[in-house]
Amino acid sequence: MPDGREIAVRSDDVPRWQDKGWLQWDQVYTVIYNSQGENREVLRIDLDLWRGQGWSDNIADMQTTLFADDGSRAAVWNDYVEDSLAGGLHLTEAEAQTLLYGADGTEMTVWNAEVEAYLTQGFYRTPEEAHTVIYSPDGAEMTVWRAEAEAYLAQGWSETPPARSTADPNRPMVALTFDDGPGPYTDKILNCLEKYGAKATFYVVGNRLGTYSKQLKREAETGMEIGCHSWSHTQLTTLNASAAANDIKRTNDRVNELTGIRPATVRPPYGSHNAAIRSAAGAPFILWSVDTLDWKTRNADSTYNAVMNSVKDGDIILMHDIHSATADAVERIVPALIERGFQLVTVSEMGSARKGGLTAGSAYSSIRP
Ligand SMILES: [Zn+2]
Repeated sequence: MPDGREIAVRSDDVPRWQDKGWLQWDQVYTVIYNSQGENREVLRIDLDLWRGQGWSDNIADMQTTLFADDGSRAAVWNDYVEDSLAGGLHLTEAEAQTLLYGADGTEMTVWNAEVEAYLTQGFYRTPEEAHTVIYSPDGAEMTVWRAEAEAYLAQGWSETPPARSTADPNRPMVALTFDDGPGPYTDKILNCLEKYGAKATFYVVGNRLGTYSKQLKREAETGMEIGCHSWSHTQLTTLNASAAANDIKRTNDRVNELTGIRPATVRPPYGSHNAAIRSAAGAPFILWSVDTLDWKTRNADSTYNAVMNSVKDGDIILMHDIHSATADAVERIVPALIERGFQLVTVSEMGSARKGGLTAGSAYSSIRP
């Protein structure tokens, strides 16, 4: 009976007794649980009594599902939930997960235990970290997803802000440029430029950067402009436009790898270029208005005179930092130009002081007021 009274009957008598209100065992008894996971068998008629004391015949009432950092879940007796939470389990699935951001802005929810692995694969914890700030050659600043930055960098943008021009646009200025380096005389030229607080632009050749990485880095550290003079001094017009652009990109990538700076301007070897190549390269092409012919004469007097006899405001002066005589000439040219009132600036500084920036795809042989 529901109150627990028992009688033993023959199997074939069961229906008869049931008609009189006798019940089978599991209709009279049930198993109940408490929040510590204990269980006992009690009479169903006492169930409300037990419920009042915190027991239940529904095991789920006494358990809480918790979530682990690896995505697994566990049913924990209610009394042990606090301990389990302190041990690193979570009340909700969301707490066991972290939202990560891809370099292209995609969002991904991963289990907390997977976060480290994703961070090493180019995911970021915050949208801010998945962004990077890039700068146009004329100093405009833009925040883009890291995945988008590449395309801009190929167009002459940089991850480092361009040197702010301190040039006075109303005073004469010239841009000294050095091609074909870095080389063994680059340091001597840098010593001189540093001594007089002068700036210059170095159009470097990609395949020399490994051997002369120290000189390249020093060019960057001393605030000189580093420009691209191709990977191996190839005449770019012998290549199709996309091969020429790749040659330039390869060189710029190498400079960037070594200095963190990305060249913003190109000096085409032999001054040889065309509109298709300029446009594919997406950078200003810088020619010259004073050709010192230093590579030919290898004579310091001759180089000095080539500059000092013709120099005008806005000139771009062509020299090569791979000749000893050029380094000797620079030691006289720099103070002489300053003496005559010229500001010695980088090509991009002159572009920003005089034109508000240089235009990608255009060619410049001077930047006049
Ligand atoms: Zn050259």
